[in-house]
Amino acid sequence: VLAIWLGKLTELVLRLLGRRATSLPGKVALRFSPNLLAKLGKQLQRCIVVTGTNGKTSTTSLLAAMLRQEGPIITNAEGANMQQGLAAALIKHANWRGRLRAKTALFEIDEATLPLVAHCFPIRVAAVTNVFRDQLDRYGELDGTLRKIIDGLAETEAVLVLNGDDPLARHIGLGHPGRVLYFGLNEAHLGPARREQMRDGAFCLECGARLEYQGFFYGQLGVYHCPECDFFRPHPDFGGRLEGNTLYLLQDGQPEVAFPLPVRGLFNVYNALCAIAAARVCGLGREQIQRGLESFKAPLGRMQAFATLPETILNLIKNPTGCDSVLQAISHQPEAKVICIAINDLAADGRDVSWLWDADFELLVESGQAVHCVTTGLRAEDMALRLKYAGYPTNQITYTVDLDEALDTAIAIARRHGHLPVYVLSTYTALYPLAERLKRRVNAYQHETAYRASVS
Ligand SMILES: [Zn+2]
Repeated sequence: VLAIWLGKLTELVLRLLGRRATSLPGKVALRFSPNLLAKLGKQLQRCIVVTGTNGKTSTTSLLAAMLRQEGPIITNAEGANMQQGLAAALIKHANWRGRLRAKTALFEIDEATLPLVAHCFPIRVAAVTNVFRDQLDRYGELDGTLRKIIDGLAETEAVLVLNGDDPLARHIGLGHPGRVLYFGLNEAHLGPARREQMRDGAFCLECGARLEYQGFFYGQLGVYHCPECDFFRPHPDFGGRLEGNTLYLLQDGQPEVAFPLPVRGLFNVYNALCAIAAARVCGLGREQIQRGLESFKAPLGRMQAFATLPETILNLIKNPTGCDSVLQAISHQPEAKVICIAINDLAADGRDVSWLWDADFELLVESGQAVHCVTTGLRAEDMALRLKYAGYPTNQITYTVDLDEALDTAIAIARRHGHLPVYVLSTYTALYPLAERLKRRVNAYQHETAYRASVS
């Protein structure tokens, strides 16, 4: 109880200071009670876990919106997905006597953290969005990441909900002792291979042969099989077919169900499909899922729109695959646009920015939609150089380390071109500062409009 008191006090102080309390209260409480997660976890009836490389936060937010239709849940919002973040979420939902206010927890859990905390919670359902290569610098090798997810899940009785289009996620399902279900896109959405697609997970982890693909959805996701052994893409238990912004869920022996999606971009369709499949496994009905999707608000930095003039849309980028998904989603919006890219290289971003060279910024050139690119952040110059090598015209690139100046420039250029939308891409540590600045601009613009209306 002392640990929870300390945690709650920290939370209170942070809130009074106007700071976010997503991790620090948990860190303080864990220092005084290292077994806090297991102790609080005992009070839960069920825990649902989302892990994987990309899309954890979006998938968790979508699933949270659905589960809330059934009753209150405890969840770690805003991507605080290591021990401190989990502890902070539990403390937030505990009273001063240490009793939790909800019996269901939905946690986004970092892949490396999963084996450390899996025994603390009654995990009934575990969803894996995908397994991409980006965490190389953090955990050594890809095998390491996969191994950690497999080890973490082996300790649970969870029903697994896996991305069957992803050969690496499929691999997790092969050795699992419990029930395994797969989600996957309909083959109508298969596209031809893009150059970056053969780089990740293209080898069979059972026998080492190169996988053969009938086609790709995005990244390494596609319809694959191994020519040498019995490894293949499983028939999806939860199939998804997209028409406009509506996702049709296909389950064998059941009529198709339509779910209008509140998110854009193919990678978000996967997140939605993963959330819907997990919700189904949790026993949620069609209407609860639909109401959840209706009530959904996009989390920070996932195609998050700000009502500045013109509109700005903020996106988190942190690795080549995630960045490519964002670039593709942006190029699917057919209009001309201004791009602003903020690259920092602080610890939380990853010190090494060489991943910029693996990301497909050539798309910005090919699409021909970006009238100007402003690069900013501590590595503004590296990003400008990357764009130059992508073949983007240098006279349409501006770089400045200063975030305010970058936004001013991008918005001014967008206004000059007839109020084009501004797409802002940012690494982790620049994301909150940019969001704050954009919010201030929205407020300033609203005051200005209100003032004009009042004097006219
Ligand atoms: Zn094989």
